[in-house]
Amino acid sequence: MEKKKFDIIVIGSGPGGYVAAIKAAQNGRTVAIVEKNFLGGSCLNVGCIPTKTLLANAHMMEKIKMAEEYGISVGSVSFDFAKMKTRKDQVVEKIRKSLGGLLQSNKITIFQGKGEFVSPTEVKVIGADNLLLEAENIIIATGSEPLDIPAFPCDHTRILNSSSILELTKLPKSLAIIGGGYIGCEFATLYHALGVKVTILEALPTILALQGKAVATVMTNAFTKQGIDLKTNVFVEGIEHSGNGVSIKLRGADPFYADLALVSVGRKVNSSNLGLEKAGVKLSDKGMIVVNSKMQTSVPGIYAIGDVTGQVLLAHVASHQGIVAASNIIGRPLDMHYNAVPAVIFTTPEIATVGMTLEQAKESGYDATIGQFPFQALGKSIATIETEGFTEVVIDKKTGQILGAQAVGHDAATLIAEITLAINNELTAECVADTIHAHPTVAEAWLEAALVALETPIHLPPRKKR
Ligand SMILES: Cc1cc2nc3c(=O)[nH]c(=O)nc-3n(C[C@H](O)[C@H](O)[C@H](O)COP(=O)(O)OP(=O)(O)OC[C@H]3O[C@@H](n4cnc5c(N)ncnc54)[C@H](O)[C@@H]3O)c2cc1C
Repeated sequence: MEKKKFDIIVIGSGPGGYVAAIKAAQNGRTVAIVEKNFLGGSCLNVGCIPTKTLLANAHMMEKIKMAEEYGISVGSVSFDFAKMKTRKDQVVEKIRKSLGGLLQSNKITIFQGKGEFVSPTEVKVIGADNLLLEAENIIIATGSEPLDIPAFPCDHTRILNSSSILELTKLPKSLAIIGGGYIGCEFATLYHALGVKVTILEALPTILALQGKAVATVMTNAFTKQGIDLKTNVFVEGIEHSGNGVSIKLRGADPFYADLALVSVGRKVNSSNLGLEKAGVKLSDKGMIVVNSKMQTSVPGIYAIGDVTGQVLLAHVASHQGIVAASNIIGRPLDMHYNAVPAVIFTTPEIATVGMTLEQAKESGYDATIGQFPFQALGKSIATIETEGFTEVVIDKKTGQILGAQAVGHDAATLIAEITLAINNELTAECVADTIHAHPTVAEAWLEAALVALETPIHLPPRKKR
């Protein structure tokens, strides 16, 4: 078998793998990427990008429905779902092509096939390319895939997962979403906006349980108001075809019927069938690759990044872990920290969080307080009729240091960047309050929230002393 030598082999080309590869190549290392599927991983092909492309259609529909409020008459509105799907495919294809070019321009060699360790320094490629690769450093960036549960047999026609639902070209009349995590909730927003009757079936007492009480409450209220049917505390025991749709068997209750079911109950990390035992890489009880803060595994020279480490399953975390791994390999020591990780849920309303909630700050021993500012009181939001939601900062009363922030409402996803930068640089509420924010912009909501936290609000009445 042919054998090629590189400084670094990266297995997987998602946002973790390709970013690590570019960082290493920029620093003069020879890098090979092994990819068994499409460039860009789950994020580009079946995750962040396709879902947000489809959600852009949903948000456009929501906006058009509000046209009358802006004094614009649009008459009857119709849409072509198949065209929306085609646009989604084109967006993915375009970015995939750009990514290929980017990797090429960084002189990174891509091998198409499944990568499998044969020793701690060798990876066999099996697929369109068939050869043996050798390197002193190997980065495992194999990501995750939808969790398969035998009781919910995804046939990808009526019982779908988060990947196969992206291939639909025709809308169902009704959709049952099993699992009210962030992925399930984003699909609920999408299909509801396109006129599908959406029901979320969640085993826990609330949707978005992992995102904390405040977020769960906001979204429960918003979804209920919008007419998305939430069934919590229901245990789904099985799903099968029935008539033209599916029948969902519920423990202790009558079956639930819908045209289609989306199974969105979690992710399985891709750590099996990688030959990790031949390299001696240690896994946790749950099958995640164990890493330290430098993204090193139990085997010197082998690193792991992204979803496969099971730390925080988000694209930007995978990318940052990629930078950390590559930096350590090239001799610039760097550690991964998780205190300023932004997380966004692209629902209506949009939700973005970073750092600690008030409860978490108090549990960590801080004498913490919050400053909250509603968009209802902000000029720009009133002007654009986007007044739902608020910004909120959590600060340490003693030092004024910002510990966390939450934003709910229009463009919360973009807004969270300011406070992420503040937390990452250990800034205080005074720093935000002393910064001139352009007017009129929604970013002013942070300035106002910081002033509220400091008990010196300008555009809200004074807070009563407690
Ligand atoms: C529906 C959905 C929506 C999402 N939305 C967001 C979002 O809005 N924002 C966000 O931050 N995150 C989002 N995520 C999560 C995000 O997609 C992941 O956190 C991210 O893709 C993880 O990156 P990664 O590099 O670790 O792995 P992946 O992106 O999963 O890439 C791993 C790559 O490794 C390849 N691979 C696996 N095994 C092998 C092997 N043995 N040999 C060769 N190649 C292999 C795979 O084919 C894949 O291309 C979403 C996920 C889903 C499913």
